[in-house]
Amino acid sequence: MSDSANDVRPRVVFAVDLGGTHLRVALVDDTGKILQQLKQETPKGDSPQGVVDALVRAAQKWDSEQRSILAASIMVPGAVDSEKTVVVQAPNLPSLVNFELKAVLEQRLGWPVLLENDANAAAVGEMWLGAARGCSDVISVTLGTGVGGGIILDGKLWRGAHGSAGEIGHTTVDPFSGLKCKCGNTGCLELFASATAIVRMTREKLSSFPDSVLKTEDLSAVKVYEAGRNGDELALTVFKQFGMYLGISLANLMNLIDPQVIVVSGGAVNGWELFAPEMYRQVGERAFRATAQQVTIARAECGDNAGLLGAAHLAFRLTGLML
Ligand SMILES: [Zn+2]
Repeated sequence: MSDSANDVRPRVVFAVDLGGTHLRVALVDDTGKILQQLKQETPKGDSPQGVVDALVRAAQKWDSEQRSILAASIMVPGAVDSEKTVVVQAPNLPSLVNFELKAVLEQRLGWPVLLENDANAAAVGEMWLGAARGCSDVISVTLGTGVGGGIILDGKLWRGAHGSAGEIGHTTVDPFSGLKCKCGNTGCLELFASATAIVRMTREKLSSFPDSVLKTEDLSAVKVYEAGRNGDELALTVFKQFGMYLGISLANLMNLIDPQVIVVSGGAVNGWELFAPEMYRQVGERAFRATAQQVTIARAECGDNAGLLGAAHLAFRLTGLML
């Protein structure tokens, strides 16, 4: 690395998508171009050392004379503290909890390091290069195995007073459902609008639809989606319910935040044509009319790269090269 003001090497950051299953690392330039990337299984174990070593190995391999790596940004599947130095909650990566990840990586890599929750990073990625381009008030809702959320106000991530803002998946949409969420609450959005929920709701309703093609042991959200596209009544009922609860949530968010755009992403978004009509119907019934008419609900555009790109953008911001 050189500190010279005349350094003309491409300016890049080291962005990491640290998932419970896979670890993706990338070199990203200031236009959002991914110059290099690697994917491997996330090292498992009781100690975070395997994860640290894997990140350092990848970073050192790319830290060459041809490039100037300015900072590193690590997105984690959990909550980070308000100083963004320590992972405070990560059900899928328990070895990282309360580990001084930022300090250890800064010491080993020699660059400034930033930690960020994965759903927050995805929201920033969509604002930088995706469906929320040019917007400053953005809500991102990720419908995956669970439901993640990110809130950007006035161009900045809204983390809340204790770093846990944006947990849209754990807002209550049905307190009388009797369904317990892993967070301890009953009736969270995640229990109705995730890939996991699609499978569970399908199983629950099977007995009412004896003719359904979904009478199979190895059910998946994709199979329910395919059945829905072929007109299976059970699948259509499940996606309608999915859309209903999602729509209730989005209407609440519109009345609360009044964003320019709500970006919906994640694997379950593939079922858009099946759940969107009911989602829009609920929004139309529940949100303030003037607000609902102006807020765009958009499908995400960055796909799997939203989080990596968001992490990269945050790293460039950290260096002061981007606003
Ligand atoms: Zn919950």
